[in-house]
Amino acid sequence: MTMVSLTTTTSLTRAAPVGVVVGARAQRRYGTRTRRAERTSADVSKTTRRARRVVVVANADAGESGETAAVTTKKNLPKVLVAGGGIAGLIAAAACKRKGMDVTVFEKVKKYEPFGGPIQLQCNAQGALDSICPDMAEKVMEKGTITGDRVNGLLDGVSGEWFYRFDTRKPCHDNGLPLTLVLSRFELLDILSEGVGTENIEMGTVVTSYENKGDKVVATLADGREFEGDVLIGADGIRSKLRAQMRGEDPEKPPLAYAGYAVYTAVCKYSQPHREPQHTDPNKVGYQVFLGPKQYFVSSDVGNGEQQYYAFLEVPAGGDDEFAKCENWENYREMLMDRFKDWCPAVMERLECTRPEDVERRDVNDLLPDPRWIDGRMALLGDSAHAVQPNLGQGGGQAIESSYVLADELSKCEGGKGVQTALMKYAARRFLRTGAIHGLSRFSSLMNTFYRRHLGDEPYDWYPESVRNMWLEVSKAKIPHPGSVMGQIILMGSMPIILEYVGAGYGIPGVLGGASTGNGKDRVPRSQIPGISAPLRDLTAEDFKMRGIPGLAK
Ligand SMILES: Cc1cc2nc3c(=O)[nH]c(=O)nc-3n(C[C@H](O)[C@H](O)[C@H](O)COP(=O)(O)OP(=O)(O)OC[C@H]3O[C@@H](n4cnc5c(N)ncnc54)[C@H](O)[C@@H]3O)c2cc1C
Repeated sequence: MTMVSLTTTTSLTRAAPVGVVVGARAQRRYGTRTRRAERTSADVSKTTRRARRVVVVANADAGESGETAAVTTKKNLPKVLVAGGGIAGLIAAAACKRKGMDVTVFEKVKKYEPFGGPIQLQCNAQGALDSICPDMAEKVMEKGTITGDRVNGLLDGVSGEWFYRFDTRKPCHDNGLPLTLVLSRFELLDILSEGVGTENIEMGTVVTSYENKGDKVVATLADGREFEGDVLIGADGIRSKLRAQMRGEDPEKPPLAYAGYAVYTAVCKYSQPHREPQHTDPNKVGYQVFLGPKQYFVSSDVGNGEQQYYAFLEVPAGGDDEFAKCENWENYREMLMDRFKDWCPAVMERLECTRPEDVERRDVNDLLPDPRWIDGRMALLGDSAHAVQPNLGQGGGQAIESSYVLADELSKCEGGKGVQTALMKYAARRFLRTGAIHGLSRFSSLMNTFYRRHLGDEPYDWYPESVRNMWLEVSKAKIPHPGSVMGQIILMGSMPIILEYVGAGYGIPGVLGGASTGNGKDRVPRSQIPGISAPLRDLTAEDFKMRGIPGLAK
């Protein structure tokens, strides 16, 4: 996709490039001189057909007052040290560097070995990245596989019937944000490292502690070296050493909150539709969440005929259970096939197509929201500050939003002056938003825990034997569970609101919990046009709609 490139000029008016459409809401808000491209969920399919006729608009100014997006070349900016070169640390470093700051990243590993395959970057994450470094955002779009333009949704794991389908295009098109995509974590880390400059990243170095010393902060490494900077970003992950020091936690026992689930993940070759084409045609289906009591299965097309899946199992924490140890099976794949043996072919086929050695496992944890992100000149960022459960695919996205805000605030400092205020403002602009995403991610997991398609399905373990047997008998009648009926009604009413909030934040200011994408301030709101800058899909508005009475719709 063609995106505008940023150069290090002091003042730059950005125009919407050919192949993108400025979001209808954004046009109203920013008064751009564009032909109105009204886009709602219902008419995106019309757009699909007419895509090649849509006229694309240029000369959309970046700011409300015709203000221009600027890359500062101020010399007197803080010197930034970053502990941790994961997604958060690298993006924060790249963001600060683009603002003209000197950055040094310390990364523990000598070579990256990220967990799992590809990562999903939703429209908010890409919007923030585009505001930070448009060229990096463009590379991400080039390498990524768009999934946000297809039917996505929740299904009953056993029957394989849709429980709720949703349209992830709407928040993107309405707000002028890029469509959700997936890309390999390795590729993402490569793009980000390049953006930071490998000469600014010290691989194989561990930050063990920090000290605020007057108007400086000193980071001490495991090899005894000390580095002085104006600010230290603690982006050292959910088990952060810097957070442990700041909050007086036991570094060996960080206060992680176990989600109640462990996740098993793999990428498998799955290009041909198998027994259930409706669930396998990658031209029509993006990602699907198959629901069931005590386990759920999330799968997404990741391009090249591959599917990535996450199988979540409700098990005790710590990897001591029979499934984690794989006591009764040859490998994880066999174990998963056993756990999911009664599920629909769409799930089982993905497992069948998996190479046993490709399945990885880990406990799912998050951190309870805690506003203590700042200590003097040290600020937590990413999972060290706001780790969330992976159900919404937003952990990395929130790290990108936070990086954008942090660099924005730091760029207002004069050398070391004003750093502490900048850090406090960063935390204030980000705490509510990350807390809200934390809550929504947990809520998704709860929904899975309590999901029952039919009355009597999977009676709770704590029921007396006679009650369990009674419910098992009832379940044979296949009476829709009142909880799932209500759940579907609630989802049909709330999901568009949730998608809009997660993806775009309703234009609410960050301090009040809105998204931090830089839309209209540091980027021209714009989104891809099907058939020009995104694939042309054979989908109509009907394909996204649920059919039937709410509660029993399919
Ligand atoms: C199963 C699963 C699926 C997910 N899917 C998605 C998704 O689709 N989309 C999404 O946006 N998010 C997703 N996430 C969340 C996302 O992976 C994380 O939020 C993100 O990786 C956090 O980045 P980070 O840089 O803060 O932390 P990390 O990725 O943990 O990086 C921390 C880095 O710091 C280094 N480090 C640690 N300690 C030190 C030290 N003392 N000194 C120097 N370096 C140190 C580590 O080696 C590491 O490289 C998922 C998470 C899981 C578990």
